[in-house]
Amino acid sequence: MRIAVVHKDNCHSKKCGTECILYCPRVRSGDETIALGEDEKAVISEELCVGCGICVKKCPFGAIDIVNLPEELEQPTHRYGVNGFALYGLPIPVEGKATGILGPNGIGKSTSIQILSGQMRPNLGIFESTVSWDEIFKQFAGTELFDYLKHVSGKEIKVALKPQYITYIPKAFSGTVRDLLSKTDERGALDHLVDELALGSILDRDIKNLSGGELQRVAVAACLARDADFYFLDEITPYLDIYQRMAAANLIREVAEHRPVVIVEHDLAILDMLADTVHVAYGRPAVFGVITGPKGVRVGINDYLEGYLPEENVRFRDYAVVFEKRAHTKEAVREELFTFPQMSKTYDRFRLSVRGGEIRKGEVLGLVGPNGIGKSTFAKLLAGVEEPDGGPLAEKVTISYKPQYVSADSSDTVEFMLRRITRRFDSSYYQHEVIEPLALGPILQSPVDTLSGGELQRVAIAACLSRDADLYIIDEPSAHLDVEQRMNLVRVLKHHAEGKECGVLVIDHDIYLIDMISERIVVFDGEPGVAGEAKGPFSMRDGMNLFLSGLGVTFRRDKSGRPRINKPESFLDRDQRSKGEYYYA
Ligand code: ADP
Ligand code: ADP
Ligand code: SF4
Repeated sequence: MRIAVVHKDNCHSKKCGTECILYCPRVRSGDETIALGEDEKAVISEELCVGCGICVKKCPFGAIDIVNLPEELEQPTHRYGVNGFALYGLPIPVEGKATGILGPNGIGKSTSIQILSGQMRPNLGIFESTVSWDEIFKQFAGTELFDYLKHVSGKEIKVALKPQYITYIPKAFSGTVRDLLSKTDERGALDHLVDELALGSILDRDIKNLSGGELQRVAVAACLARDADFYFLDEITPYLDIYQRMAAANLIREVAEHRPVVIVEHDLAILDMLADTVHVAYGRPAVFGVITGPKGVRVGINDYLEGYLPEENVRFRDYAVVFEKRAHTKEAVREELFTFPQMSKTYDRFRLSVRGGEIRKGEVLGLVGPNGIGKSTFAKLLAGVEEPDGGPLAEKVTISYKPQYVSADSSDTVEFMLRRITRRFDSSYYQHEVIEPLALGPILQSPVDTLSGGELQRVAIAACLSRDADLYIIDEPSAHLDVEQRMNLVRVLKHHAEGKECGVLVIDHDIYLIDMISERIVVFDGEPGVAGEAKGPFSMRDGMNLFLSGLGVTFRRDKSGRPRINKPESFLDRDQRSKGEYYYA
């Protein structure tokens, strides 16, 4: 079984000379295998296509994909028209359970949810006529989805939704946080949600003036406050620190005790504590996606990291993601790059003190700590954007900085923007070390202001790395990146640090990412919004122990070596705490 997918946004038949048609061997021998549709976009006949792949190579805009599907796939659940994305399978919302979907962006997760919520009737890949619900039931006969879809067909499902991107909320709603939340308070649970998500102090703030982290917590509260048959939350962690992530996860678990909850989450330590079961989603983003049956959360995450699904006998990645069991160190081989002194910075209501330390050539340093504790202030002090109390730093380094919140207001294309920053755009180093691993190829011709949050994040990281600097400071690069993209990010930043003998500072709240990417860490503690202290850099073991002891959370290792959050007060939790081993136990 083979499918041909035409990415219509990338198909510009007036600009390319329609080489896909000219060179298709089937067209040359007289068949109409590729033709232009009424909209001047390529239409490929999957019946006639022999899968040679010539059109894929000839298209200068990467608009065509021809893919052989795994044998076991039969009829799709839904297809977005002829040559559109094809979805196989659906996740199953289950009463009393939190169900995770684990997979890359663009693999059909939102499409599944639109189907499960009754917003879209699946077409089973049939476009000629409207598919009846009876035909749909037949595809799911004998599965747990059968009864569920019967409800959907009767339009009996009320869904509460937390969308992936929250920046549209201030555009769609005007008023205060209290106004918005009181409208959604259908369960009478608002006070509890406000307490647990620490929203009390911002209730009278205008939605327009919230930071991303505040908006994210309001969006989670608004979703969970509803009285719905089924809750869907598409990524809860962007812009939240680890305390806030755990608080949101605990609230979701509470709701899941009595209603089905489906969640997409790429912070795997959080997904692991949050979900009971997961469906792995694999395939090729924007081409086809397969949603597997449910798996226990431990097994599902481990299979995903392994890149191999034993039950389905499918390998979808040619390498496994592994965690080092012992704290890693390369300290001995690094030379000093820059020493920052003991210093402080006092604002009206906040004071940061920094103990002082050194940054080494070629290392990636992790910066961890809650929101509002002074991490960005520290970055600004190093960058010289802010002066410490008592005068400027004696030693100067040049800094390239990617802020936590990235916005796009330019209609220039991604390529145009990057070329303006770097003269090395065409070098093979830049192509191999930046463009390819950040998967920017397909969006180089897109205007920056049309990019999705995840695309914009990758462009902002590339832009930051394109500048010449001694030190690169990258604030929350994981926001809106899927697990594959996070793994690629680890590789890109490590190579960048070593290749350029510079320092890379990464502020992030995804513990797995921090573990994989950092050679040492700086730990920020204190009272958010009041006083913070930057301690370190420490070795991974000492730093993680200091950070996690403040958080009161311990991690054990499962058989595969993956760290998992211990249940509070479990035997292992108490044992590890008494030994002071919070992470590399
Ligand atoms: P995810 O939620 O996993 O990121 P989506 O379900 O949003 O993925 O989309 C999967 C793919 O389906 C997208 O990459 C896009 O190519 C395609 N798609 C989504 N919505 C539409 C639509 N309305 N029309 C045509 N194609 C669509
Ligand atoms: P983090 O990066 O850890 O989230 P920040 O360094 O952004 O924390 O902020 C720490 C505290 O300093 C916050 O309470 C913030 O409101 C305050 N702050 C940051 N910049 C300024 C400023 N220019 N003037 C006054 N207060 C500030
Ligand atoms: Fe023609 Fe199919 Fe070959 Fe494309 S892959 S050139 S459509 S035969």
